[in-house]
Amino acid sequence: DLLPAARVAADPADAAASRAGLAELRAVDITAWFGTHKVLDRVSLTMPAGGITALIGPSGCGKSTFLRILNRMHELVPSAALAGEVLLDGGDIYDPQKRLIDARRAIGMVFQKPNPFPAMSIRENVLAGLKLTGAKASRSEREDLVESCLIKGGLWNEVKDRLDAPGGGLSGGQQQRLCIARSLAVKPRVLLMDEPCSALDPTSTRVIEETMVELAEEVTIVIVTHNMQQAARVSDTCAFFLASQGTPGVIVEHGRTDAMFGSPRDQRTSDYVNGRF
Ligand code: ADP
Ligand code: MG
Repeated sequence: DLLPAARVAADPADAAASRAGLAELRAVDITAWFGTHKVLDRVSLTMPAGGITALIGPSGCGKSTFLRILNRMHELVPSAALAGEVLLDGGDIYDPQKRLIDARRAIGMVFQKPNPFPAMSIRENVLAGLKLTGAKASRSEREDLVESCLIKGGLWNEVKDRLDAPGGGLSGGQQQRLCIARSLAVKPRVLLMDEPCSALDPTSTRVIEETMVELAEEVTIVIVTHNMQQAARVSDTCAFFLASQGTPGVIVEHGRTDAMFGSPRDQRTSDYVNGRF
């Protein structure tokens, strides 16, 4: 069983309160456009500190767009526009006084397709993000960081004897865990994961799920997944996105995962989580 009993039983709010230093992420009235195409309409969601929040829903309903809004990647698309707020522990990450790099460092992203720098060594992959932040670290500090990030990414035992080997030589599942380790090196407070296991086999998927559950002890996690078993296994809270017939995406229902799967309030949620659409 992947889920320690305590995580299943605990109320996410209580669990969060008991783990100081973890950050809550809150999206308030998010509306998003690509050009004149409105793709999200007044979406609000609180992602509890130290919890795993799963975003579920059919393709095209705006889950990836929502995720990219959470770490200011949406604004990289020239036609993209946005209204609403994203609050990290109450602080607006879109505050014009704040630096983009700080938002990106605080809120990391792991993508569907593992994307390590293939020619770079495993060690250099983990350290790659540090160069962007300009942080200075001694050689021994860097070695400690590589080890701790690879441990947290669940990859250390498999690669500790070949840290100089290229990242591209690892299996798909290992590459994805290397990407997780890389994103941890800048000490993010939130980790966003956009279908991180869709490109992986079931065994690698389970390993990543275990890694994720352990990581939630120190990082708030938001995951997009089409795998309902995965959402049920790993997440504490869940949000069901839907965009019906050309209307922008909205959240139909959100709440504790056990409630969403066990006794959904909305018929559409029930249909979706039971594979009826
Ligand atoms: P999901 O992740 O739920 O499948 P997306 O967020 O990728 O949904 O897409 C939501 C809507 O936004 C879709 O209609 C998609 O075509 C549109 N969209 C996504 N990215 C872009 C983009 N870069 N330019 C224009 N439209 C986009
Ligand atoms: Mg997507």
